[in-house]
Amino acid sequence: MKVIKFGGSSLADGAAVAQAIDIIKADPARRVIVTSAPGKRAKADTKVTDLLIKYAAVTAVGGDAAPLQEQIFARYQAIGDYFHLPEKALTPLRTALLALPAGDYPDDDYQLAAFKAHGERLNARLLAAILNHLGIKARFLDPKEAGIIVTGTPNNATVAPETYHLLAQVKLAPDERLVVPGFFGFTLAGYIATFSRGGSDITGAILARGLGAASYENFTDVDAIFAADPHLVDQPAPIKQLTYREMRELSYAGFSVFHDEALLPAIAAKIPIQVKNTKNPAQPGTTIVSDRGFVPSRPVTGISVGKHFAALYLHKYLLNKEAGFTLQILQILNKYGLPYEHMPSGIDDITIVFDATKLTPALVDELCDQIQSTINPDRLEWLPHFALITVVGEGMATAPTTPAEVLATLAKEQIPVLMINQGASKIATMIGTDPADADRAVQAIYSHFFN
Ligand code: ASP
Repeated sequence: MKVIKFGGSSLADGAAVAQAIDIIKADPARRVIVTSAPGKRAKADTKVTDLLIKYAAVTAVGGDAAPLQEQIFARYQAIGDYFHLPEKALTPLRTALLALPAGDYPDDDYQLAAFKAHGERLNARLLAAILNHLGIKARFLDPKEAGIIVTGTPNNATVAPETYHLLAQVKLAPDERLVVPGFFGFTLAGYIATFSRGGSDITGAILARGLGAASYENFTDVDAIFAADPHLVDQPAPIKQLTYREMRELSYAGFSVFHDEALLPAIAAKIPIQVKNTKNPAQPGTTIVSDRGFVPSRPVTGISVGKHFAALYLHKYLLNKEAGFTLQILQILNKYGLPYEHMPSGIDDITIVFDATKLTPALVDELCDQIQSTINPDRLEWLPHFALITVVGEGMATAPTTPAEVLATLAKEQIPVLMINQGASKIATMIGTDPADADRAVQAIYSHFFN
């Protein structure tokens, strides 16, 4: 059995859904289908998830939500009409959409999560109805019935381990297909909570693990995962196969084709993931596999860049002799519930890299004040814009000159390096640069290793 997940652009309109259905029909093993919300039909279009976020905001301030309700429902109606779906099949979708403001929510965050989740929830209902209408036996399975239990915050939830016991009890009749909405689960108290954005990938991986799938197919809008961002590098090499940990490293700092958190359930159950293009399913795509027996074809597999970082630089003489210095910093971060990304240190200084999307200017001020008064560094510098470039490859473990080649390439381009982080796994070298230099750095590194 295979779990197959379609991204938002693969379910954006009737024609796209028809292509997705052809893919479902092409392989009888594709028994569990995970939906995203309808995505963009064109560049200037708005994703249904973003319309639902607006709908939640208007509802929260008691505004007139009718135009948004119509706009959202029209997206599902248009898909239904494409397949000549009878009106009565769409009525429950409209009812559920209009009932959202009257729901029971502990607070605004849970309300937002429930609104957002309906992008996928209604799309899964719709797809199940369309499949049945076309004579393909399908059953809508809500995460509540399936047993997808989540913990954590309402809009950034984490799957709870008991989910896998519950999923093991899901029955799948030999002739039926299940259609499950991605992106959300239920808390133990029974409220909807969503994963972070792009989180339908996570649902697919949870189902693949919980239902014991042989593989997890992720259909999206690109032919493959590429060795570098196609917006930065002209026709980058497609990656045929890469390991889970290479993918984790790459998606952490920039590759957005596949959600990094979605790898964890697949890793736990050693399920291969295939990323393929809905509009071009004959292309081989990219397969993500375990590193056991993996033979890399070149030292570097991919180069990613993330520009959403910030860094705190601290300098203090004899820092290396001062016990408890790092502990004090960590205690301050802990007080603000703030995770850090990296903390490379020297004998007299330390750099702490943060995900800037988790910061506000007020929080930065407070953090710097606290660190200044508690630790009393000789120098404290806040770098609000910081880019991280990650050069990744299982092949780097046996090609020890790779980090030196990366640095030499940057030196040739006269790009200053603000940080170097090379873990003992030897499969990733991380370089901090000024965001203004980052694209050029990726182009130069790509050209050195691939051209
Ligand atoms: N629809 C959600 C989002 O836009 C989740 C997903 O697409 O995977 O983030």
